[in-house]
Amino acid sequence: HLDAAADLEQVLYDVHREIQPLIGQGQLADYIPALSAVDPQQFGLALATTSGEVHGIGDYQLPFSIQSLSKVYAFALALAADGETIWERVGHEASTHPFNSLLQLEHDHGIPRNPFLNAGALVSVDRLMSRHGSAVQPLREFLRAESGNHNIDVEKSVAESERAHCDRNASLAHLMASYGNLDNPVPNVLDNYIEQCALTMSCHDLALAARFLVRGGVRADGTRLLSTDNAKRINATMLVCGMYDQAGAFAFRVGLPAKSGVGGGVLAVVPNRGVLCVWSPGLDRSGNSVAGVAALEAFSLATGWSVF
Ligand code: GLU
Repeated sequence: HLDAAADLEQVLYDVHREIQPLIGQGQLADYIPALSAVDPQQFGLALATTSGEVHGIGDYQLPFSIQSLSKVYAFALALAADGETIWERVGHEASTHPFNSLLQLEHDHGIPRNPFLNAGALVSVDRLMSRHGSAVQPLREFLRAESGNHNIDVEKSVAESERAHCDRNASLAHLMASYGNLDNPVPNVLDNYIEQCALTMSCHDLALAARFLVRGGVRADGTRLLSTDNAKRINATMLVCGMYDQAGAFAFRVGLPAKSGVGGGVLAVVPNRGVLCVWSPGLDRSGNSVAGVAALEAFSLATGWSVF
């Protein structure tokens, strides 16, 4: 009965009320100065069903900085273009190190552990650039097409802010280049990565644009982006690697494949039902939205929706 729209609206309303005290808690990401300038009191939650209906509550139509949520879509496009050979350049194993760590990358000879670490996302960008000459352009086109919102774009001030503080990502890129795992010039790869992270989207549009993950790899227009098996593999990689060093705790609390970003967004996939996207800027120590994770937990408890 939870498929009934009225019940879903009620669940969203109850979840919002339940987690209200947590909105504004946590810290804003400040290593990218533009991200510390947002109002921490914002919260939005949207569910896009497999068929494309959207239910939402709070600030779910307000655009925010998608940051690492971009890594899911960019990797999907790179996997679609390259096929299985992409796994020679990036793994699908969880990392015990922070998302921007250099340590493991050197140990693994320039092959990032998974596509959701910064190093792994730089590989997706590099692969897309080799195919299309750009990564951010095909990504933006894809996001616009899947969400139906043709205003989706890069927030230049956020990109500028990250560009001025990108020494660590530059180090990751140079280290990978030294192992031959980047084909394009490091400054161009970095630039595309920074711009893709600075795309600005709402929960509404992010959830709609990720529906290929619950449609066995099929896009909004009915064409196929990925095989069913590859869509499954992205979901599996999200479950294991999507929530920084809290994937285990998140699986325990929520039980859904998910990806988090330092802008405070979290994307969560509910197989056969739809995609949830939640946003609230206050982050816990691992970089996950405090109110966002709590809302996903409350939603999954109220509906019984999880992969377990
Ligand atoms: N642009 C951010 C960075 O490279 C993304 C981090 C994130 O959201 O995990 O540090």
